[in-house]
Amino acid sequence: MQKKQNIGLVWFRNDLRVTDNDVLHKATSNHESLIACYCFDPRHFQNGTFGFKKTEKFRAKFLIDSVSDLKTSLKGMGIELFIFLDKPENSIPKLLEEWDISKVYLQKEWTPEEGHVLNQVKSRVSSTIRFFESYTQFLYHPETIEMKISEIPMVFTDFRKHVEKHARVRPLTAKPQYRSSKVVPNATRIPTLADLGLQDFERHPLSAFPFTGGERSAFQRLNYYIFETKKLGVYKKTRNGLIGTNYSSKLSPWLANGSLSARTVYWNVKRFEEEHGKNQSTYWLIFELIWRDYFKYISLKYGNSIFHLRGIRNREYEWERDVREINKWINGKTGSSFVNANMLELQQTGWMSNRGRQNVASYFSKDMRLDWRIGASYFESLLIDYDVHSNYGNWMYVSGVGNDPRDRKFDVEWQARRYDPSGKFQNLWLQPTLF
Ligand SMILES: Cc1cc2nc3c(=O)[nH]c(=O)nc-3n(C[C@H](O)[C@H](O)[C@H](O)COP(=O)(O)OP(=O)(O)OC[C@H]3O[C@@H](n4cnc5c(N)ncnc54)[C@H](O)[C@@H]3O)c2cc1C
Repeated sequence: MQKKQNIGLVWFRNDLRVTDNDVLHKATSNHESLIACYCFDPRHFQNGTFGFKKTEKFRAKFLIDSVSDLKTSLKGMGIELFIFLDKPENSIPKLLEEWDISKVYLQKEWTPEEGHVLNQVKSRVSSTIRFFESYTQFLYHPETIEMKISEIPMVFTDFRKHVEKHARVRPLTAKPQYRSSKVVPNATRIPTLADLGLQDFERHPLSAFPFTGGERSAFQRLNYYIFETKKLGVYKKTRNGLIGTNYSSKLSPWLANGSLSARTVYWNVKRFEEEHGKNQSTYWLIFELIWRDYFKYISLKYGNSIFHLRGIRNREYEWERDVREINKWINGKTGSSFVNANMLELQQTGWMSNRGRQNVASYFSKDMRLDWRIGASYFESLLIDYDVHSNYGNWMYVSGVGNDPRDRKFDVEWQARRYDPSGKFQNLWLQPTLF
């Protein structure tokens, strides 16, 4: 039998891009021939602990688009993307054996489900197989922050000041100029929403996120927001908006599944600053990216505690779990029309503004006193931009079990008057016929 020598495997997870991807870069440097794989893990489409589907249709559709775009980009390099609707521990060992692969390249993840899956894969393959894991999801790479993970401060400002002073954002890793020397046959196909047990749907006409998944559309949005419209230059003034596509960057869904890297956003902001000048808004977008990094470091430091009821602060509160109350919140039937409008937007589009998220989460945990993990789990299901660290980090923060030293509560009626003074946003979702 002819030996199929030295093919490497790139296992894509939440790094669905070819530009600024250190995993792909390392693999292309080490192998003349590569194949790649992505697994739609059936567990991601089943119900989670609190009964919500772990991934609802909005993010699933975005993911399908993202993987489809990645497949096209890799094909341009002669790299076949094998796509499975199966657990990685079933499909990857077979792929390794079929192509006699001994080296696997992947993004380093640390949350329990991802860790468990990797361990399962490793337990089913020879111990000679080597796995090369790289962090590609940070703005400030863990090797550059000059701080041990155990020393990550409890207060964001302390972390931000430290990285701003001591760390530097690494330059971008260019898209590899690569052509795999062996092109292999590949009969796998991308699943449909129906294959994932989800219904196809039309995008809601009022969606504030009317974009498709994939690296190409990520770059289009980045260019549009930063350079074409120069909206970045007024970001600080508009970022608390509630309606439309342009009050904030809307980059989070691409950042969450890794079709866009945080470094790419950073270096484009820097380019904008060079060309058009620096101001508070350009700084503030980077400030928000540091929040994103912070919650990743918090989850690295505290591990599973980010999913615990008492959170990383180990705080004891009385929590309710009344299903009727939870359903009122989900279906926009609470006593607050501002909360209701935001919840209906989420239910119908998979999107909610940052201002909305803060208010509905505070209302859920501090006014209704409901178990914050149920709200977080509902967000996990619905959000197009769900990111485990940002979601659980923000939920803990708002619910008083995380990184907010002051344990504040949002006055949702005051917030509605401040951020939706004419009621336009509330009417949009509560009385859509008016628009
Ligand atoms: C309860 C709650 C749950 C959340 N869940 C998620 C989630 O699952 N996934 C997610 O990406 N964000 C989450 N966020 C953070 C924030 O609401 C979104 O990142 C933001 O609304 C996305 O819109 P944008 O891309 O236009 O953000 P912009 O305002 O344009 O900000 C630019 C980028 O900075 C990052 N960022 C901004 N605010 C935050 C923040 N508070 N925490 C962490 N990163 C931030 C995001 O990557 C964002 O794309 C949550 C916030 C709350 C209060």
